[in-house]
Amino acid sequence: MDSEVFSSPEGPYLNLTGRFPEGIYAYFLLKGHAGVSPEEIARFLAGRGHEVSAVHRVDQVHSARVVESEETPCEADAILCRRPGEAVRVVVADCVPLLLASGDGTAVAAVHAGWRGTLGRIAEAALSALGSDPEKVVAFLGPSVGPCCYRVDASRHARFREAFGGVTGPSGADGADRLDLAAINAARLAARGVRPERLHRETRCTSCDVALCCSYRRDGERAGRMAAVIGREA
Ligand SMILES: [Zn+2]
Repeated sequence: MDSEVFSSPEGPYLNLTGRFPEGIYAYFLLKGHAGVSPEEIARFLAGRGHEVSAVHRVDQVHSARVVESEETPCEADAILCRRPGEAVRVVVADCVPLLLASGDGTAVAAVHAGWRGTLGRIAEAALSALGSDPEKVVAFLGPSVGPCCYRVDASRHARFREAFGGVTGPSGADGADRLDLAAINAARLAARGVRPERLHRETRCTSCDVALCCSYRRDGERAGRMAAVIGREA
């Protein structure tokens, strides 16, 4: 289901805080936001009333590597944070942004899952690293490129079929092979025990939603970046 879009002096965003356990805040910054650097995100969070001492980021390399916030900055595609007053963020423009929180609100994670990370099962790796009962974990999958716009070649589709069976994405009327990366990541989390009522998924397609979403497939190098942010209150 699509979340309500809010506006701020820094630009449009989704407020996901209400979906997460108490003591956690989470946001998704849409196209047109002033910036997604840790400094700009710290300012945005301060403007929403959060006391933030650090916003952690990684150099995203389309891996399946999960690191603790203390290890950043480094090359990885998922960051875990257990410290109050700190936040983590990933940037996306078609890849799947995934935010996770333990049921007791003491650990959060931000994950960037492109096709390589999805194939490498980064969502499951981040879920395990949280170290929390999966049945109590809250997960949010943000806007990503949908199967409507994500055609892949036959060999890549075959790799996904081999890895994930039926959950890959529909073949269109044109017979082209398509991937639904968000559906695959959601299915993997569900298979590991995340409850459907705590598994939230945004349905807007980044490539279709020209007004609100950045899309690398649509705009190439000139595509901007959106950010998924989650943190613990101080
Ligand atoms: Zn689309």
